Amino acid sequence: MSLSKIKHIVLVLSGKGGVGKSSVTTQLALSLSLAGHAVGVLDVDLTGPSIPRMFAIEDAKVTQAPGGWLPITVHEADPGAGVGSLRVMSLGFLLPRRGDAVVWRGPKKTAMVRQFLSDVFWDELDYLLIDTPPGTSDEHISLVETLLQKTTPEQLAGAVVVTTPQAVATADVRKELNFCAKTGIRVLGVVENMSGFVCPNCSECTNIFSSGGGEVMANDFNVRFLGRVPIDPQFLVLIETGRRPRNPEGTTVNGHNISTPAGAPADDQETRDSALLVQKYKDCSLASIFHAITADVVAAVQQAQGS
Ligand code: ADP
Repeated sequence: MSLSKIKHIVLVLSGKGGVGKSSVTTQLALSLSLAGHAVGVLDVDLTGPSIPRMFAIEDAKVTQAPGGWLPITVHEADPGAGVGSLRVMSLGFLLPRRGDAVVWRGPKKTAMVRQFLSDVFWDELDYLLIDTPPGTSDEHISLVETLLQKTTPEQLAGAVVVTTPQAVATADVRKELNFCAKTGIRVLGVVENMSGFVCPNCSECTNIFSSGGGEVMANDFNVRFLGRVPIDPQFLVLIETGRRPRNPEGTTVNGHNISTPAGAPADDQETRDSALLVQKYKDCSLASIFHAITADVVAAVQQAQGS
């Protein structure tokens, strides 16, 4: 069975689209891999699968093996460097045209999600992150039902809920937390994304919108607050162009110094190198933030599963 060799399954949920759920999934995956874990990402966001774009593997072709699909390898494990393998499967790979799935009717979507959960050959994974559609739709219910049927309680670790300072003010994220409570999915924690802005000129983090609402809400619901993630234009550039992030001397985010070391290549051309995404991501201001968030998620999973 495709899920049987997976140790921990983590759902990534958001109350509404555009809050950065796929970006958070991507960065959790990169961070877990940098911590030496074998990671898989399953993208079932039929409203617009963006995971292939995040990992720059939009043109990858999935291979059909007898009884299922083989996920795309983003990178293999490098035990010497302490990096775990990273594999990805997205509904986006199976769509003849982008946006096709959006017009499918409910039962077709539900059937696809079911099949997706059972027909991907993951092999051994420490973590499988599932990027879900925004909201609490029929697909979510069917996803959770299928997961409850096909996994053991030890495997199904819980959910990370992503919000933004503005979305906290809406009812969506609260609905998401209520959905978890109703379906018996443990909430591992809440991430407040787009909380402030890392200025590309001075690299100072500024709060353009109010921030902190995610923490208040997490406290209200008695769930763990995993942290605030600012908007970093260099993360976008890394995803869009593959350019390695560069940070002026003295760059500090959330108290971490993440300046680009002296002696690093001087201009954009030289930084457009062929290193793996996971290596370039280490130079992103958001990497240190996700290092801490990931450590908290791992702790929450271990605490929940008593391992
Ligand atoms: P969702 O999955 O919730 O629809 P995405 O993860 O696709 O949202 O994010 C929407 C857009 O915002 C993407 O282009 C993404 O790269 C960008 N983005 C999200 N979070 C950040 C961030 N913290 N810093 C910079 N860009 C971000």
